[in-house]
Amino acid sequence: MKLFTGDIKKLEQRIIELDQLSNRKMDKDTENIANYSFFELMVIYRYIVGIRLAKRKLILKRRTVPIHEDEKIRVKNFLDNKDFHHEIISIILDQVADDMDEFKFFEENINYSEDEMYNLIMKFLDSIESKELLLQVVNSKTLFCKNVGLLFDGIQVFDWLDKTSYILIDKNISDMTKIISIIHELGHSYDSNNLNSSNDLINYSKYSPYTEVMSKNYEKKFLDFLLDKKIGIKDAANLLESYYGNTIDSLKNIFLLTDLDDKYIEGNSYKRLKFNKLVKLLDNTESMQYLDNQITNFEDIDVTEDLRYGYGGILSCYFNYLERNDPEKYKYMYNNFLNYRTFEFNEDYFYKFVENNDILATAVKEEITSDLRKVEKELKLKRK
Ligand SMILES: [Zn+2]
Repeated sequence: MKLFTGDIKKLEQRIIELDQLSNRKMDKDTENIANYSFFELMVIYRYIVGIRLAKRKLILKRRTVPIHEDEKIRVKNFLDNKDFHHEIISIILDQVADDMDEFKFFEENINYSEDEMYNLIMKFLDSIESKELLLQVVNSKTLFCKNVGLLFDGIQVFDWLDKTSYILIDKNISDMTKIISIIHELGHSYDSNNLNSSNDLINYSKYSPYTEVMSKNYEKKFLDFLLDKKIGIKDAANLLESYYGNTIDSLKNIFLLTDLDDKYIEGNSYKRLKFNKLVKLLDNTESMQYLDNQITNFEDIDVTEDLRYGYGGILSCYFNYLERNDPEKYKYMYNNFLNYRTFEFNEDYFYKFVENNDILATAVKEEITSDLRKVEKELKLKRK
């Protein structure tokens, strides 16, 4: 079975169609959705053919593709809730910051044919009754695998008008990483397909700190699936290490930012701070303990990304934990999550789907611990 069926001609055609739509008379909402879809598809197209070629190949009405001014809004939203983030992340890091020391890296990288990748993803999706997600991108020829120079593992964009997902996976990553990246991106497809109003969706995808919850949850479920079915255990252990490692790194990054004065976060000026200056600024703060010597500046920290991947990681653990331990409560809380994940972070809404901070921290801790044990058992590792 062919997995990467992506058809560049079809993508070009759709971009031109969306571009020409702006000629026609339509209501404001539809126009917004068409415009946003156009920009989304341009993003993936530019990665596939390269920015220079993208300009020359398509004859568009629009000469320029504006860069969204959304970062300011996200930063403001972060600053408005800085104390909340500080408190909750403090509790979680307290519990799990050192746990990653127990994970070990393995060299494995099993090779999978496209057919084997397809079957493994299908088998997993079947277990969560979501086979149609892969079928949709394979059949509509919107799943691409190209060299993107390791800029990212995968990316998903959505055509909000005809509800089609476009996924691009980097050719340079290992096969198992390709598989989990597709699954992650399918989590985004699921998300995009299952929110009600398209305009809310656009705001959600632009501003919400929760955009990585569903995708991370798909990843987590897939890792559980590999461990339970004993498939590619060493690769799974590696992926688990990155799953938790990246989550904790993002939480540490955000935690450091919550201890900085607002003026360093506005306009991203923290990125230009020298390490010594940082040490001075963070002296006597709680986050000082997480200031790593390896980070010589804040260049790699990103308010938006770290917030999204941090909350994505912890909430996906939390929902996974609830689903296993208290299915009734899980249904209730997860449903609340779908209803209350407004695009602006809201503390009251947050506690509609998280009972309290301690439960959240316990869930993350328990997930890490139980995954560690499973890996140890499978690989017959001795505890340190
Ligand atoms: Zn994602």
